Amino acid sequence: MRISDIKATTVTVPLEATLRHSNGAHWGRFVRTIVRVYTDEGIVGLGEMGGGGESAEAAVHGLKPYLIGHDPFRLEELRFKIANPTASLYNNRTQILAAIEFACLDIIGQHLGVPVNSLLGGPVRDRVPFASYLFFRSPNESTGGGEVRTIDQLVAHATDLKTRFGFTVHKLKGGVFHPDYELECYHALADAFAQDRLRYDPNAALSVEEAIRFGQAIEGLNNDYLEDPTWGLNGNRRVRQFIKVPLATNTVVVNFEQLAENTLHPAIDVILLDTTFWGGIRPCIKAAGVCETFGFSIAVHSSGELGIQLATMLHLGSVLPNLTFSADAHYHHLQDDLIVGGKMVYENGSIKVPEGPGLGVTLDEDKLMRYAELYRELGGYPYDRDPLRKDWFPLIPNSRWAEHR
Ligand SMILES: [Mg+2]
Repeated sequence: MRISDIKATTVTVPLEATLRHSNGAHWGRFVRTIVRVYTDEGIVGLGEMGGGGESAEAAVHGLKPYLIGHDPFRLEELRFKIANPTASLYNNRTQILAAIEFACLDIIGQHLGVPVNSLLGGPVRDRVPFASYLFFRSPNESTGGGEVRTIDQLVAHATDLKTRFGFTVHKLKGGVFHPDYELECYHALADAFAQDRLRYDPNAALSVEEAIRFGQAIEGLNNDYLEDPTWGLNGNRRVRQFIKVPLATNTVVVNFEQLAENTLHPAIDVILLDTTFWGGIRPCIKAAGVCETFGFSIAVHSSGELGIQLATMLHLGSVLPNLTFSADAHYHHLQDDLIVGGKMVYENGSIKVPEGPGLGVTLDEDKLMRYAELYRELGGYPYDRDPLRKDWFPLIPNSRWAEHR
């Protein structure tokens, strides 16, 4: 079997509201590039990638000369064909490699008539548990609803999500407001959901000393971990000396060099595996094996997904024996999805792993056209800016907090 064509289509899909984070915001919608890999046997594999608020269409199309004629079963060769480590110094294609890997695994699964997780060691669970992923949100531009800014709004939002989707783990995305206020918010969640577990992720916005202060202030609560409280392996290693809460990262251990460094000189306890950042599902499984060997924990990270990428996260989560923490997903903030059947369904805080051949999801062509049209209309957006704060940009460590009053 050979790859005969590759098509990339940029879409934008509305969110319930603008999601704020320490670097800026998801401006009321996600921009994603949907990748279709065609084969000479008529099988079409699906991939997906992000790119902040921008299209990756041109970058994916640029790889056609490399990939047409490639056998989709040859996944290791794929890595060296388009993302060899020294060439990557000039043309970092890790995320594109991931999107093509997803599509090739989808093709192989469809060809063999088995789900992708059967190609990856087989499932040890058929559902993957998720955390609630709470964001501070600006109001929806058309409805004015969906705001999360005050403590009451935050607790009400978390209660609503718990009621609808059954979450028992709550992740607060912070780094937006002053850490003192976010600490109050975190304590309010701990009070409201005494039986549930909590995690906090300010996207590395805090100084080492603020991170230590925050970490010490939440000791004794039902914490999963503190995620990227500060920037850098060394910064986190300093924080880790002074607090008892485990540290997690999706920023400073995102490749094997960094994983080796963290293994030799531990700074992070929980490695968050992102199928896009690591260059595919298979590197995440390799990394999970290293973590298992050295006693580091793992979880499945979300970099903002539609249904295709969510399927990759579910297949990954289903095959990891050492998955002891709930996964993250932005998914429930979306108003719609592009896959046939609409959005996947949460039950008791978990999502069922697709059982069909390949990734087990099919593109809804009408929705693909509709959301591609919406992208053409609206264009991209600056992921690293906040629509509410003109001319603002953050420092790391940050001191330019948003006003919560
Ligand atoms: Mg994070």
